[in-house]
Amino acid sequence: MSSKITIAIDGFSSTGKSTLAKQLAKQLGYVFVDTGAMYRAITWYAMQNGYITSEHFDTSSLINSLPSIGLKFVFKQEVGFAAMFLNDVDVETEIRTIEVSGFVSKIAELAEVRAKLVEQQQEMGKDKGIVMDGRDIGTVVFPDAELKLYMTANAQTRAQRRYDELVAKGDAITFKEIYDNVVERDYIDTHRENSPLVKADDAIEIDNSDMTRESQLELVLELVNKLIA
Ligand code: C5P
Repeated sequence: MSSKITIAIDGFSSTGKSTLAKQLAKQLGYVFVDTGAMYRAITWYAMQNGYITSEHFDTSSLINSLPSIGLKFVFKQEVGFAAMFLNDVDVETEIRTIEVSGFVSKIAELAEVRAKLVEQQQEMGKDKGIVMDGRDIGTVVFPDAELKLYMTANAQTRAQRRYDELVAKGDAITFKEIYDNVVERDYIDTHRENSPLVKADDAIEIDNSDMTRESQLELVLELVNKLIA
């Protein structure tokens, strides 16, 4: 039997990290964890409680509430993936809106939020056999991961992908809103003090601006097979 490894996928927003992670997890029989969903769920909680609005951000109330925020992934047979549950309520749809995307990078800057989520993520991956995607997986969460990928693509392509996805879901948004959000999140994620998005020294960079999902998966499976053979 081949040994199980840890696969860490980091990169800019809308580079298809979760799509690739899901495909890999399926092929390998591994657990898939989308850590962005966890930051998004805390953001949704903060919005619901009025801790973050376009006018103010009450960081201390949010930090004080962290112990009462329960997050878990629940596998849903009918869709074939795990949905994010916040205090036992399915928030998978709510956390994917442009409003949540507009606040999430500010929430993700808080050291207390990161400490809570990193601890949970490390616990989920302690037995390996996991594909986790985010911004700090190869650098902070699993610095010893056997395979680290760093995904990039140009902002125009990424915004277009995200726009197509949201329009297909029926969201009323403009391309410019999405483009501005992608660029703003990239900026905050790469410039924050706590665990900024950086390429780990031993990560393999994949620019998928001109790659199909299939050719990308093929490339990464080759890398995985070399490691687990
Ligand atoms: O991956 P996704 O785009 O859903 O992530 C939403 C946001 O959550 C990112 O823009 C980033 O601010 C934050 N995030 C993070 N660290 C992670 C995953 C996500 O800071 N590991």
